[in-house]
Amino acid sequence: MTAFVVKGWCPDAWRPMMAGDGLLVRVRPPLGRLTRAQLLGLAEATTRHGNGQIDATTRANLQIRGVREDSWRALIDALLDLGLIDRDQTREARANILVAPDWRAGDDTHRIAEELRARLSELPDLPGKVGFAIDAGVTPTLQDAPADFRIERAASGQLILRPDGRERGTPLSPGTEIDHLIALARWFVGSGGAASGRMARHDAPLPDWAAGITSPAPSVYRLQPGLHPLGVALGLPFGRVSATALSRFLETETAVEAVRLTPWHIAICETAAKLRVQPDPADFITDPSSPLLRTDACVGAPACPQATVETRSLAHRLAPQVTGRLHVSGCAKGCARAAPADVTLTGRDGRYDLAFDARVGAPPSRAGLDAAQILAQFGAA
Ligand code: SF4
Repeated sequence: MTAFVVKGWCPDAWRPMMAGDGLLVRVRPPLGRLTRAQLLGLAEATTRHGNGQIDATTRANLQIRGVREDSWRALIDALLDLGLIDRDQTREARANILVAPDWRAGDDTHRIAEELRARLSELPDLPGKVGFAIDAGVTPTLQDAPADFRIERAASGQLILRPDGRERGTPLSPGTEIDHLIALARWFVGSGGAASGRMARHDAPLPDWAAGITSPAPSVYRLQPGLHPLGVALGLPFGRVSATALSRFLETETAVEAVRLTPWHIAICETAAKLRVQPDPADFITDPSSPLLRTDACVGAPACPQATVETRSLAHRLAPQVTGRLHVSGCAKGCARAAPADVTLTGRDGRYDLAFDARVGAPPSRAGLDAAQILAQFGAA
């Protein structure tokens, strides 16, 4: 098998990363959509080869954890059979494409994302974390999601290409969107962008043709659990669902034809009919006011070797007591959330540092707390 990926790299299915609980295999479903058959197959493969848990990421990918080294190849074969990964390892590595989840067949988002997928071989080799957002609906929906190159809508209705970290983008003529995106990716590499790793950190002057003059339209999009034009949206606590719960849900809700992933730990079930039964609240969030929708927590200890603290049980108990956004991170890397949160707990040497209105690792208001002290501070003891 290929060499395992060391930390700092962005793993994919062909290049899994060794974590504390076994290999981590990332799956990037085409257009962020899985059919019923793919979901059931994925659940079975996760149970058979992984730890039985499926994690959705902030890039609308899925992760299977706890994969044994001697199971990896069988898992890959299952994912290939399901059409969830590409046989071409280079194409799979480059398919870091976030797609506006409300796309419809034949619309601009669908057309442009499909063209990008068809032309992945024209992209240069990019740093592992560099990704694309195809966000060509009526107004932008992905502005809070991580991407280095965005195709999105301007207030005028025209599509623009906007590099991350720049406020304005370049207007695009219909049919030229991917030509320009590939050209900008090549400029990024040619101008030394690989050294900075991400577009937002790359401060080289843009080429004249890409010096943006047009602002994206303001985004008013906010996805919540509940009815959705495509069916029903369901929240996933901390982005996780067990393979057992997923299979049980699909076997009950036979009208669900497919599921779309989003960067917000909310999945959109495509269904023409109402759900027959209320999903189990232990598995899915159906209440838009649930505090777990305002809570981020990485997998923490013991699953992640970087973590020295447990994260999700604490986050679960703390969430109802926190006003605003809560982020509990196993270490200062902050995988679960890059942006600041109202309350941030960062694991360090087996204890937690507490900060307010801060990113992980920010100077704490109180340092070296244990879980009991934190729960007491927030009245959750
Ligand atoms: S933030 Fe969490 S998941 Fe990421 S490396 Fe640190 S402990 Fe691991």
